[in-house]
Amino acid sequence: MDYPNSYDVIVIGGGHAGTEAALAAARMGCATLLLTHNIETLGQMSCNPAIGGIGKSHLVKEVDALGGAMALATDRGGIQFRVLNARKGPAVRATRAQADRVLYKAAIRHILENQANLSIFQQAADDLIIEGERVAGVVTNTGIRFRSKTVVLTAGTFLGGKIHIGLDNHSGGRAGDPPSIALAQRLRELPFRVDRLKTGTPPRIDAKSVNFDGLEQQWGDQPIPVMSYLGRREDHPQQVCCWITHTNERSHEIIRSGLDRSPMYTGVIEGIGPRYCPSIEDKVHRFADKNSHQVFIEPEGLNTHELYPNGISTSLPFDVQLNLVRSIKGFENAHITRPGYAIEYDFFEPRDLKYSLETKFIGGLFFAGQINGTTGYEEAAAQGLLAGANAGLQAQGKEAWCPRRDEAYIGVLVDDLITMGTREPYRMFTSRAEYRLLLREDNADLRLTEKGRELGLVDDIRWAAFCEKREAIVRERQRLASTWVQPGSAAAQQLAEKLDKPLSHEYNLLDLIKRPELGYADVANLNSENTADSDLNEAVAEQVEIDVKYAGYIARQKEEIERLRRHEETPLPLDFDYRGIEGLSNEVKQKLIDTRPETLAQAGRIPGVTPAAVSLLLIYLKKRG
Ligand code: FAD
Repeated sequence: MDYPNSYDVIVIGGGHAGTEAALAAARMGCATLLLTHNIETLGQMSCNPAIGGIGKSHLVKEVDALGGAMALATDRGGIQFRVLNARKGPAVRATRAQADRVLYKAAIRHILENQANLSIFQQAADDLIIEGERVAGVVTNTGIRFRSKTVVLTAGTFLGGKIHIGLDNHSGGRAGDPPSIALAQRLRELPFRVDRLKTGTPPRIDAKSVNFDGLEQQWGDQPIPVMSYLGRREDHPQQVCCWITHTNERSHEIIRSGLDRSPMYTGVIEGIGPRYCPSIEDKVHRFADKNSHQVFIEPEGLNTHELYPNGISTSLPFDVQLNLVRSIKGFENAHITRPGYAIEYDFFEPRDLKYSLETKFIGGLFFAGQINGTTGYEEAAAQGLLAGANAGLQAQGKEAWCPRRDEAYIGVLVDDLITMGTREPYRMFTSRAEYRLLLREDNADLRLTEKGRELGLVDDIRWAAFCEKREAIVRERQRLASTWVQPGSAAAQQLAEKLDKPLSHEYNLLDLIKRPELGYADVANLNSENTADSDLNEAVAEQVEIDVKYAGYIARQKEEIERLRRHEETPLPLDFDYRGIEGLSNEVKQKLIDTRPETLAQAGRIPGVTPAAVSLLLIYLKKRG
């Protein structure tokens, strides 16, 4: 049947990409349908119940700054919060939260169900309606035809999904969920380049069977961090402890003896797995000289005894998994509640996407999440938000929004994917961003919330909170710049102890913060006649301190960005005839044809495309007029 309503945006898949995509389009006022296999699994964490971490929290905070749900749900579901790299520079600091997976899912569902302009429908999408070179809707497995102006596909690990435990395998989207076979076949008939990747998960363990005596405890930070810019510590549920244990020589021997029944080491699995989240058999094989690996024992939630042993993801046969687990300190009598497994799935060559995440071959069709070759909830959410927003903008007849590498980690992620493609699951790191001093997790709101408001992604509550913070930063800077410490005063004496010498002349507080020995907290209230507001938000103080301390570096990065911007703004037509350019090597021509860059700067970032080749392109562009 033809469904009576038609939509601006249909999103297929209710995982981390799909929920953010649907919410973004709906927030912008687009009539949006979220079509997913199962409403009960909206926002489900397929693997570890944790959000954030290095590089990843930057994405979460950017999604939050643009009005997304992930950080808010983390604050409502997080049962342990920590700031990683707390003693290092602000560019690499990262918030990580262990989440109760039931609370997290409930928070996501609550946000979805309360979003205006958004309808949810439970059924599998089996086909796309394609008219000419444009998508026009989706057909479900029971033949319901939903029509729409745009479609965002976020099918995760489900397309052609195959689950492996030892040499046994079966079709599945993840444990307990069906795969998406009909849609995978349909997509293979379209002109996209498709390949296979794999990922894996560890067995889960019943806490009642674990001996915690002698295991190292790990508690969260105090004061408890928050993930969202709107987050409040009071919203966090009860906080819990995690533990640390280790594999040992015997564990490694058990693994080695099971490799002849490993789907990875017998060639049954063809897809490449995540380099930075390897299985335990991979770690033992690749780092043969290490006789122990760390295992973080993380509770799956407040109302369950299940534990997630982070670090022993495996697809070895179940008998090997059990022996391996029981060889580890604390797990001697452990009961496994769910076996570990690996999953292989289809992903699409991301170089077939535009910056907007629209596919180059089918107009109005956007891809986001794991299907673009990434791994991780945060990478998926970031792409989902961008694809949902751009699908919405297209439906409204507006230009796409494509954040640049110097504006957001979302820009870095998309540019890396569509410029270089990927041969293995891509995860975000701070080292991937060349302007990481500008792209910090603490300033994602200052970088993006105004843009989000302009696009219609940011509601009045978030906007008011943001404006208040921005104004408070300006006010506090002004106060610090106009508050002085005189030599010989009581304040100066206090400072002399920290500086190991007396003040030579009068200083304002802003200049004092620039000194390496001093921070905001040391100077903020030195002058009792002009102290900071008693309710000054700690995020405001942090922002002022970072801005002042790193002003020189930040200014240099901004200058470099300005210099490169001209190339960033020089478009390359998608039908540009690279074969006709004399002087380009065949190898460079092939690389440009494979990627079809959208701008001159993107062409320059393709590995193997030299500055000389970029100059040639520029000359040809000028000739073309
Ligand atoms: P998903 O979260 O997979 O969501 C896809 C959604 O689409 C699901 O709701 C599904 O039901 C729905 N769907 C699919 N096809 C259809 C259809 N035809 N019609 C309707 N609905 C459909 N990430 C890491 O960072 N580290 C890890 O160690 C890690 N291990 C993993 C282990 C396993 C076993 C799995 C399955 C995933 C693992 N991941 C890991 C990946 C992580 O789960 C994903 O990166 C993330 O969930 C991707 O989000 P997504 O929205 O793209 O897809």
